[in-house]
Amino acid sequence: MISGDYAVSVERLTKRFGRFTAVDNVSFDIVRGEIFGLLGANGAGKTTTIRMLAGLLKPSSGRGTVAGFDINRDYEKIKRRIGYMSQKFSLYEDLTVYENIRFFGGVYGLTGKQIRERFEEIASHIGLSGLMERRTDGLPPGIRQRLALANAILHRPLVLFLDEPTSGVDPIMRRQFWDIINSIAADGMAVLVTTHYMDEAEYCNNLMVMRDGKKVATGSPGELKKQFHVSSIEEVFVSTEMGKR
Ligand code: ATP
Repeated sequence: MISGDYAVSVERLTKRFGRFTAVDNVSFDIVRGEIFGLLGANGAGKTTTIRMLAGLLKPSSGRGTVAGFDINRDYEKIKRRIGYMSQKFSLYEDLTVYENIRFFGGVYGLTGKQIRERFEEIASHIGLSGLMERRTDGLPPGIRQRLALANAILHRPLVLFLDEPTSGVDPIMRRQFWDIINSIAADGMAVLVTTHYMDEAEYCNNLMVMRDGKKVATGSPGELKKQFHVSSIEEVFVSTEMGKR
């Protein structure tokens, strides 16, 4: 049953590339304000799942909604209501921090005034104050990550997709990044995040573990640990991977 209360709701989502099935009959829901973590080894189907939800890739079968719109039909409407931060933090290297902000704000259809006001609102919170004039290519990874996040939430999306947002960033910056994500979710945005860092999985409200395109486990971090009789999400993950052998 697909309800308007869900920020994301998918049923039997499937993506085939030729004869290969990258995402296989996956169903899950995410409510507003929830941080939902997608875990899985390389090639498990996480990015493909996000791309279908973000209106970038057409599902082979299955149905669902994102921000209340049909993923099979309304992808243009979905694109305007979501934020997407890809693994590679797509930034314009030869532009300054603020020029990047202005560019992405323009892509989302915001006026110059709206972009300025929104940037003022989020800059100190995200830790970008005083960096407006800095060229992007000289910034450390943790700051680039924050700029990519700022770009993704400028237009106040209802759902935020973060695809390995913390890879290559030091532990302190990663921790601070999660504090920011928590406050974004507390404001009501739904967040779907993929990560390879199992300690980060503990910060999520709910998790789904994927293997070979399939959902192999789901629940809150506490529920999963109970279900697998282990004391860490790392062990849950290892158990699901061992199931393969
Ligand atoms: P990673 O952590 O490495 O990003 P992932 O879980 O995000 O992994 P996906 O990128 O979704 O995995 O890829 C799932 C599978 O689908 C992989 O085997 C990949 O090679 C395959 N795949 C992805 N995109 C395509 C495509 N356009 N054509 C063919 N195969 C693809």
